[in-house]
Amino acid sequence: MQDLLSHEETIIEDIDEEPPSYYPHPLMSVLSHTHGLFEQPSVNITQSLFHKQPSGCEPRSLSAIRAFRRKFFPNTSDKEWKDWQWQIANRIRTYQQLNRMLILSAEERETLETNHSKLPLGITPYYMSLLSADDPYQALRRTVVPTIYELMRSEGEADDPLGEEHQSPVPGLVHRYPDRALLLVLDFCSTYCRYCTRSRVVGHGGILPSKSRLEKAIDYIRYTPTIRDVLLSGGDPLTLGDDKLEWLLKNLREIPHVEVIRIGTKIPAVLPQRVTKKLTRMLKKYHPLWMSLHFVHPEECTQESYRACGMLADAGIPLGSQTVLLKGVNDNVATMTSLVDHLMKMRVRPYYLYQCDPITGSAHFRTRVEKGLEIIRGLRGFTSGYAVPTYVIDAPGGGGKVPLMPDYVAGRNGDKLMLKNYEDKLYSYPDSQGFDVLM
Ligand code: SF4
Repeated sequence: MQDLLSHEETIIEDIDEEPPSYYPHPLMSVLSHTHGLFEQPSVNITQSLFHKQPSGCEPRSLSAIRAFRRKFFPNTSDKEWKDWQWQIANRIRTYQQLNRMLILSAEERETLETNHSKLPLGITPYYMSLLSADDPYQALRRTVVPTIYELMRSEGEADDPLGEEHQSPVPGLVHRYPDRALLLVLDFCSTYCRYCTRSRVVGHGGILPSKSRLEKAIDYIRYTPTIRDVLLSGGDPLTLGDDKLEWLLKNLREIPHVEVIRIGTKIPAVLPQRVTKKLTRMLKKYHPLWMSLHFVHPEECTQESYRACGMLADAGIPLGSQTVLLKGVNDNVATMTSLVDHLMKMRVRPYYLYQCDPITGSAHFRTRVEKGLEIIRGLRGFTSGYAVPTYVIDAPGGGGKVPLMPDYVAGRNGDKLMLKNYEDKLYSYPDSQGFDVLM
């Protein structure tokens, strides 16, 4: 117990470091009078992100990563670099650090200098080593470096578009479906994604992994026998230390009606060093345990990520990726094909492709729905069926996930159903009623 408490203090100290950094942008108060929307600030948007093609589809070379380490972490040993706690302690969190490591664009500089972003800045040195120093349009860089566009609110956007706050019977627990509960373990992530659906809470230090709060959530689950599936999310639950995470898993596993535990995490993409033998030895005691990973681009599929996913899979944990469709990051068939093919080799099933939620300040990341359908059409039939994710929109207001499919039915001709295959060739299927066997 002493270990647990001291670890808890460590985590809480970490979170206290996060600046509660949401201050309304001065432009917002002026511009919010116009139909409640925030308009674009002074940055020249014509040379913006919207028409740029995403960068390459392969992870950065090892020599580029080594060069980054030599330049910015020259005295760091391999042992330190591979230590996940070192990675967390040395995250890039300030404008000054970013300015040293990247040639910042006007869109990035303006946001960072004023620090008006709602979501803190946080990037592990490992993930930082995968970013391009001179290309602000590089896919991975766009996902973690703030730009001025996240300060603009577009029509239909909201801080809590999924209505989670209204479905929370105890702090940090969302109970939307009768048989499932979402437990926000903490609001801390090693690296913050600029399109995060929970940017209203993530990194703000309001959801702490304190034992008393978690006990209340566990009690709620214990006394609600309809709950058979618990999803641990946050924040990133794998940023907890092994002891604390085990305490949580053990308590949940002891509840007879909890059949399945799932963990939602981006760790294998942003901090693969966290996946250690000790962690996987511990996790495999709590089966059936599933993991929803979060990969968005093939450049995240490095040797380290392969290793981390392999270790989790070897521990018997079924792995699925929940990928968010992001404009200028992965919104084309070639990038998505490369990503899902990597994931299959990493033993991760591409599970969901999410339409980006209308979270405040995310318009620059959102594509039209047709784009998602076009991507699914470009995958189906052109790669393994297992590699084709289900494209979903999380219905605003808490309506749950709605699957979307390209339409392969071309029409009907009497008892014949006309079907289009992946090559747009027409086929006829005998769709008669059949007959009932008389008993
Ligand atoms: S890892 Fe998940 S919770 Fe954390 S910032 Fe990214 S999307 Fe949000």
